[in-house]
Amino acid sequence: MEIYFDNAATTPLDSQVLEAMLPYLGKHHGNPSSTHQYGRRAKDAVESARNTIATLLHASPEEIFFTSGATEANNLALAGSIHTLRFRHFITSPLEHDSVLKSLDFYRKNYQIRVSLVETDAWGRVNLGHLQYLLQKNPASFVSLMHGNNEIGNLNDIEEIGSICRTYKAVFHSDTVQTLGKRRLNLSKVPVHFLVGSAHKFHGPKGIGFLYVNKQIHLQPLMHGGSQEKSLRAGTENVAGIVGLSTALSLAYENLDDTQKYLQKLKGYLIRRLKEIFPQLTFNGDSDQQDKSLPSIVNIGFPALGDRALVDILNEKGIYVSGGSACSNLVEHGSHVLRQLGRNLELENIRFSFSKYNTLAEVDYLVKILSNLYEPQNILHYVGVAK
Ligand code: PMP
Repeated sequence: MEIYFDNAATTPLDSQVLEAMLPYLGKHHGNPSSTHQYGRRAKDAVESARNTIATLLHASPEEIFFTSGATEANNLALAGSIHTLRFRHFITSPLEHDSVLKSLDFYRKNYQIRVSLVETDAWGRVNLGHLQYLLQKNPASFVSLMHGNNEIGNLNDIEEIGSICRTYKAVFHSDTVQTLGKRRLNLSKVPVHFLVGSAHKFHGPKGIGFLYVNKQIHLQPLMHGGSQEKSLRAGTENVAGIVGLSTALSLAYENLDDTQKYLQKLKGYLIRRLKEIFPQLTFNGDSDQQDKSLPSIVNIGFPALGDRALVDILNEKGIYVSGGSACSNLVEHGSHVLRQLGRNLELENIRFSFSKYNTLAEVDYLVKILSNLYEPQNILHYVGVAK
């Protein structure tokens, strides 16, 4: 038996997405920049995907720029805002993804920008009063705050953050990787200047994503070359990937409400069962509060099982989970998010993340394995006291 509970790291490709992509890996192999029929077919596929994504987000097609994923999209938004828009003061939170935090750190060290961190509390909630205070002192700053946290699942109210930013004439960037295709976004209403998406988080292919740039903003390219993506992102387009991205997003939107309800059911069931068996269990962030967190993520601190990592023991039992973000080196540094929450790093913190392909029977199996592991005689086995 193999159970995949690591969908915040990446999701399996939907077979309908694969089917939509295959012709563009085969007979429709043209380069969208070529003017002959093969090229036009590829160009039409790219533009139709751009239209689909823009329509779903209530944006305009010229506001969508395809990239290799969200890391590139976040970097492009931040670097473009420094180089083109000449921003020198950035406000972010210590709970952001490394593609935001490490970029800002690099520019702080090398380009003399200033970075202010918004206060966050032990549950990973961002203090919006403090954001207002920072903006009062530094109006017209660049604000980068994510929509859904990839480790603890906490949701930020990006409508409210956007309207605070608008009051202080700040530019607002949001890393929406974990919420795109999971929560509806109406960009004609949410005052946001940049947001990002990555197809592999919603059953699309890896290595393709996009940056939304509000049409009031014009950036200079980071990479120079051809005139693809209105010259903002030179390089021959990943046509099959782009088709996969828009197909995956359309499918996610078609079933959005049902999928979210289903994930809430899975997550609620896991939380309830675990709380019954282990009343003392620590839930990190707001991940056990269904109204404040993504239904796809729950992050739990487990007592250590001697010198064996629980994540490895579960792996041996065919249950695949993660210690936090798959992108960071947790073994060496621990999770910057959980450290910031002041979490007990003696506990082993595990992120379980679900997709539409998981089942209640899989949750039952996980609960059975965990309750067996924490039987007193088995704990002794793992700490090496008895066999
Ligand atoms: N931001 C967040 C919140 C993420 O979870 C991830 C992926 N772990 C990224 C950015 C980077 O996305 P990509 O894999 O497309 O570079």
